[in-house]
Amino acid sequence: MRLFESIVDANHKAVAGDASAGLHPDEFADAFPIIALTCIDPRLNAFFPNILGVPADQFIWLRNAGNIITGPLSSTMRSLALACAVKGGKEIAVIGHTDCQVARTTAMELLSRFQSLGVDRSRLPENLNEFFGVFASERQNVMKACDFVRQSPLIGPNIPVHGLLADIETGKLDWIVNGYEKLVQAQAPSQPQQQTAAGALTPLSGFGSLKDFEMGEMKFPAAKIGEWVSAKVEGLKMAGEEEIQKAQPVVESAEAAAKQAADYAKQQWGQASQGVPPKIPRPPPIRPARLVRKR
Ligand SMILES: [Zn+2]
Repeated sequence: MRLFESIVDANHKAVAGDASAGLHPDEFADAFPIIALTCIDPRLNAFFPNILGVPADQFIWLRNAGNIITGPLSSTMRSLALACAVKGGKEIAVIGHTDCQVARTTAMELLSRFQSLGVDRSRLPENLNEFFGVFASERQNVMKACDFVRQSPLIGPNIPVHGLLADIETGKLDWIVNGYEKLVQAQAPSQPQQQTAAGALTPLSGFGSLKDFEMGEMKFPAAKIGEWVSAKVEGLKMAGEEEIQKAQPVVESAEAAAKQAADYAKQQWGQASQGVPPKIPRPPPIRPARLVRKR
């Protein structure tokens, strides 16, 4: 079993009452750290990373209202990309939860809540559902988020993207998307976009796929990285096709640029993507039932 399969397996055993159930993180050292996107619901505060059974120092936790991703280049998406490129995240999990208030709140209710907060209708976008990414089904919301992450040009093709749903009452985790299986499916068909020495135009087409995305908007934590990427991008814009063929090294895509930025960070500070400590302490067994809180 791979990491998240073991996580779900141990979680199910623990929920079923097996007091000895727990993950053995030392068996999965190569798969850490992991990245999770969850909802802001405070009831989840005590859940993570406990119900996953992973060590806290190998758990990169992103949260937003409803664990929503609005697009392949959205703000949350950029944080996920940097969690991989700068913090060395190896696998991504979008983890929704049952009884999510974002799913329970209708557009009309949302309007009246804003109204009571002094935010007038005229100041809000016309389509509230679309703007906030409000959803009706927690499962579909997680599936949609996983699709966005997998399609994002900012995420490497070898990063598994999982979708899970946590039961807010019991802490039980249910599979929605098994990222390992999707990874295999994605790799199965022929890959015409693979980089080759002859594919000299790939750099331009790679950036073309980003459409409205402005690389200059990406705020890397260190100015040096931003300058470095900007210089690379500027070089690509300026260069004609022949120039690009000669350019060394070529920035094939935003993904490659992010990877090179991470390598650069690693060289500069020697901390990014350093992998895991040699010995991971084994966390106590998962006991989700103890974490249940009354609303
Ligand atoms: Zn929620």
